Amino acid sequence: METLFLDSSEKQLEIAAEIIRSGRLVGIPTETVYGLGADASNEAAVAKIFEAKGRPADNPLIVHLADFSQAADYTHDIPQLAYALAERFCPGPLTMVLPKNERIPKITSGGLDTVGIRVPSHPVMHRLIELSGRPIAAPSANISGYPSPTSAQHVMRDMGGKIAAVVDGGQSEIGLESTVIAIENENTARILRPGYVTREMLLEVCSKVIVDRAILNELESGETAASPGMKYKHYSPRADIVMVEGELRAFTDYVGENLTDNTYSLIFDGDAQGFPYRYLTYGADSAAQARLLFQRLRELDDVGADKVFVRAPSPEGVGLAVYNRLIRAAGFEVIRI
Ligand code: AMP
Ligand code: MG
Repeated sequence: METLFLDSSEKQLEIAAEIIRSGRLVGIPTETVYGLGADASNEAAVAKIFEAKGRPADNPLIVHLADFSQAADYTHDIPQLAYALAERFCPGPLTMVLPKNERIPKITSGGLDTVGIRVPSHPVMHRLIELSGRPIAAPSANISGYPSPTSAQHVMRDMGGKIAAVVDGGQSEIGLESTVIAIENENTARILRPGYVTREMLLEVCSKVIVDRAILNELESGETAASPGMKYKHYSPRADIVMVEGELRAFTDYVGENLTDNTYSLIFDGDAQGFPYRYLTYGADSAAQARLLFQRLRELDDVGADKVFVRAPSPEGVGLAVYNRLIRAAGFEVIRI
């Protein structure tokens, strides 16, 4: 199939909206990463998402709406706390898991009775939801297991020939997927997947915020995942990723002692001067690291890296999301020196 490369003009978005209505797939820019969008209420359309990505059927999709007021059309028993969170964080990079109703087919929710609802702030995604008049299911538009796409070109590379169109909306501003939360009771939220909306930010609205154990720890065998996506190896380029925690001096020595033919390091901006081995940098602070991480992981494949030592980011604030993606990319291989 030929994949149309659309710009984000109203005319081209009309084309993308018609593709969604006719049950086909579109790569769409959002403020987090690029999504692979389909009509969330159309089982056959949603099946195409799982097929194009090679995504396990039990890994649920997030449903994107133009306004949180529409959440009541697809869910039931929305807690007051969800409305309070929506007031503060919608539109934006927060997904709330809510009990779904029959308008969301089971294939969309990976067989669960709940559905993740998000109201994206990106004007192109927002307009496409409005024009299509449909709830849009959109996981990240990468091949399952590979780093998420943060540009239309990344989507073309993974999905070109397999989907009807990609809409170009420039580089993703945040660069990591949304924060996913479950609401435990009227004052408590549980973070299932960390993102740009941090625990500290959620505490402005909730009196208690639990960080799920699976965010930083590998699931034990037999343990069920509160967030099914967390049980898969994820976000991973072809190269073998190893996270290294420690000071720059010790990091540099460690890399020197473990060099292979195609070793690269992924280091902070401030580490680059005088660093004696091949490297890429991924920013100086957590927000920059979030924005650049997936792009750099793809670039490491482009340069043919076979082993990559990554300086571990600080797991504070937005850094928790960066750390969470990296530890999965590394298959939980962390060296502490
Ligand atoms: P992606 O679409 O690639 O951003 O992944 C979405 C992730 O959100 C899934 O892998 C889950 O971890 C999480 N998620 C989505 N819906 C639910 C749900 N109903 N319950 C728990 N986690 C969910
Ligand atoms: Mg994904």
